[in-house]
Amino acid sequence: MADEVDFDYYEVLGVSRTATQEEIKKGYRRMAMKYHPDRNKGDKHAEEKFKQVGEAYEVLKDEQKRAAYDRYGRSAFNGGAGGPGAGGFGGFGGFDASQFGDMGDIFSEIFGGGHARSSGQNKQMFRGEDLIYDLDITLEQAAEGYKTKIKVPSWSKCTACGGSGAEKGTKVETCPTCHGSGYVRAGAGFFQIQQTCPRCHGTGKYIPHPCHKCHGTGMQEEKKELEITIPAGVDDGNRMRIPDRGSPGQNGGPAGDLYIRIRIKPHDIFERDGQDLHMEMPMSFVTAALGGELEVPTLTGKATLRIPEGTQSGKTFRLRGHGIRSVRNAEKGDLYVHTTVEIPVNMTTEQKDILRQFDASINHSKKDHHAPERKSFFEKLGKLFK
Ligand SMILES: [Zn+2]
Ligand SMILES: [Zn+2]
Repeated sequence: MADEVDFDYYEVLGVSRTATQEEIKKGYRRMAMKYHPDRNKGDKHAEEKFKQVGEAYEVLKDEQKRAAYDRYGRSAFNGGAGGPGAGGFGGFGGFDASQFGDMGDIFSEIFGGGHARSSGQNKQMFRGEDLIYDLDITLEQAAEGYKTKIKVPSWSKCTACGGSGAEKGTKVETCPTCHGSGYVRAGAGFFQIQQTCPRCHGTGKYIPHPCHKCHGTGMQEEKKELEITIPAGVDDGNRMRIPDRGSPGQNGGPAGDLYIRIRIKPHDIFERDGQDLHMEMPMSFVTAALGGELEVPTLTGKATLRIPEGTQSGKTFRLRGHGIRSVRNAEKGDLYVHTTVEIPVNMTTEQKDILRQFDASINHSKKDHHAPERKSFFEKLGKLFK
């Protein structure tokens, strides 16, 4: 991701820099439609464009972020070209969650927090870190949508020091190294490089006696309940972005974002493949031979499957619309029922006799006529030994 191509948000949406919110929204819809993955299967260029369109809209639709973008460019949001590909695209499906590894059900600091931007007042502001929260849900919850409350960290002014970061009775002083500017000049004479002050990390402040409670940060963290709504159709690994609910920024920098990462627990019966579901269904060899109806479970209840006469083991049936709806539209996937024919066990002598009689009757008529699989097998075998 280090060689990520830089691009212009306005250009990507095909709007002017003075575009109204309405124009931005229209531009987004137009371009998202054009580059939508469903319309450009396997097209890497379109895929990249689609991500860019999402990222551009996420920023430009928010006037505050748009202003920051106009001032600092794209790097204000993702840590510049070196950022690990976070983009800023907050929709679903555009992410590769695997890059974060498995961190358990905890908050972790991820990508690109804490990079410095000049605030224009000779101090540096830092964007807060993004946080990620792993939410485990069931397949049913993913299919139907899910509302829940989670505990997320929230920051407020430290009550012990009132937000100054200095222990009660002491003062915040001006950083003696940079004299409050947040910068130091390195090198001598003609060539000088301006660097972030190593002592105060650009804040321009020096706290001789940091507050015992907040250790000088001036903030205290507490857990707050946040209600979140997971839309129907989400898939494992999808991430939902909640803007500005990450760690707070410093020196007036913007807060990071909170990401909810969806993890779907394995289901006893169904296996998911995109919007489709798959399941194994045993049926009796009598039903397979004579045909009949088979009741199969679905995510929302039951459905009846018509089994035609002479169904072979391993046959797959499709129940249209019994899959999972798309997170983008109401379109539903299908349920694939993979059948296996079950051979009866623990038969009585009488039952065995019936089967023997049946076998004898089969052997009296043309054998192959009743066994399509065996017929084709012997045909192949015949060709092999010609
Ligand atoms: Zn300093
Ligand atoms: Zn404090």
